Amino acid sequence: MKKVLIIGGGVAGMEAAGQLAVLGYSVVLVERKDVLGGHVRKWDRLFPNKRPSEEVVNHLLQKVQHPNVEIRLKRTVTDLRRNPNGSFLAILSDQSPVSADVVLFATGYHLFDAYRKEEYGYGIYNNVITSADLERMFKNGEVKTAEGKIPQRVGIVHCVGSRDTKCGNLYCSRVCCVTGVKQAIELKELIPNVEVFNFYMDLRMFGRGFEQLYLEAQQKHRVRFVRGRLSEASETQDHGIFLKVDDTLVGRPMKMTVDMLVLMVGFEPRKTTFPLLESLGIEKNEDGFIKIRDCHFDENRTNVDGIYVAGTCTSAKSISETINDACSAALQIHRNLSAKVKDKRK
Ligand code: SF4
Repeated sequence: MKKVLIIGGGVAGMEAAGQLAVLGYSVVLVERKDVLGGHVRKWDRLFPNKRPSEEVVNHLLQKVQHPNVEIRLKRTVTDLRRNPNGSFLAILSDQSPVSADVVLFATGYHLFDAYRKEEYGYGIYNNVITSADLERMFKNGEVKTAEGKIPQRVGIVHCVGSRDTKCGNLYCSRVCCVTGVKQAIELKELIPNVEVFNFYMDLRMFGRGFEQLYLEAQQKHRVRFVRGRLSEASETQDHGIFLKVDDTLVGRPMKMTVDMLVLMVGFEPRKTTFPLLESLGIEKNEDGFIKIRDCHFDENRTNVDGIYVAGTCTSAKSISETINDACSAALQIHRNLSAKVKDKRK
């Protein structure tokens, strides 16, 4: 039985493992944490239909409960080499060897570190939080300020760490606009009188159901959308956050105080994988995400034969896009491995 090593047990890794197992491959799924699921575990409900994240995780967990899938938790790949016959030998952090015919990187992304945007006050002012912090609050069933008050006015800032030359990230993280809209609606559902302001550069509601969510936010929940960049955030005496925003639609500055400021942090490449990528000669794009062979016809192969990619290690993606990408990677691996078997038979 041909063997596939999958590095990363998030959405992409789990989906690909399940697909390859059903296709008759032996899969070793390596995950650095003590549970599978990746970032999605930290989320409360998902756009566009507000599905609880557990439903997605449980669905994927069922897929990897297959006799062909061997799960290795709390391990990383410390070394990966190609054998003379073209197969691979990986050494895991517990020193155990894993041999594989092909390797799939499903190593995911890293959330932008909001401390790097000092001017927004994350880590300085208690009531400046990130979108991930807000999800944790949703998961716990209550949203409160650091002083234990229910916020009456919340600001949501888009594009934190994305489309930002200062941070060196010129790309759009694609899913934070819709996350900002979803979180605004959830705030309104949880705290009916709360005023919510979304500060955006432009709204990128590209996916199925996203535009409807945006309309729901405006029409049903009266969420305010202000086109403009936040230029300054500072703390007031009673721990509110004073904001200065250049409203680029009406062309004048806007000043206001909110009880809580939420930063929509974007995706960044997972830098801890760079040494492994470099040791194999796997190319990255300028933005640090893994380079794919062709943006139309070959999205799941790297420049190195036998090394495949799936999910957000190549670019920011939604969960449904990640699942589709993982299916596509599994199919590509199947096609290439079965072609090799046929070649040998000739
Ligand atoms: S999806 Fe929206 S918030 Fe995220 S980087 Fe793109 S434009 Fe900014």
